[in-house]
Amino acid sequence: MERNLTGGCSCGEVRYQFQGTIAMAVYCHCRDCQRSSGSGSAAVFAVPKKDFNSSGVTSSYQSTGDSGKSVARHFCARCGSPLFSDVELLPDLAFIRIASLDNPSEVKPTMHIYCDSSQVWDRPNDPLPKFGKMPG
Ligand SMILES: [Zn+2]
Ligand SMILES: [Zn+2]
Repeated sequence: MERNLTGGCSCGEVRYQFQGTIAMAVYCHCRDCQRSSGSGSAAVFAVPKKDFNSSGVTSSYQSTGDSGKSVARHFCARCGSPLFSDVELLPDLAFIRIASLDNPSEVKPTMHIYCDSSQVWDRPNDPLPKFGKMPG
């Protein structure tokens, strides 16, 4: 389904726009998402990079995922809102925080990933498929 979505950070410095088809939408329970969100998981959706544009200054932090490949997390340099990531393993996709959308209700996660590191106080408890790591 063709979607037209907009979003950005808290302070308005960074704005982004996407028009196209969403590749996936997940709750990610990996430790990096936990640290960058300060919670048990992050709700994220992925879109083709060619259909995604952003404006404004972001800072980024690059870490190494459990695949051994890098993940660069972009956040607003001014207000710190987590926004989107570049994942070396899936270079054609942008991974965007659902909560950064202007209307976060427009995208719903369809699965839980990296449940191996889910926290006892935030175990997924719904009928969605659950994967210990990234589904093959
Ligand atoms: Zn900001
Ligand atoms: Zn994650």
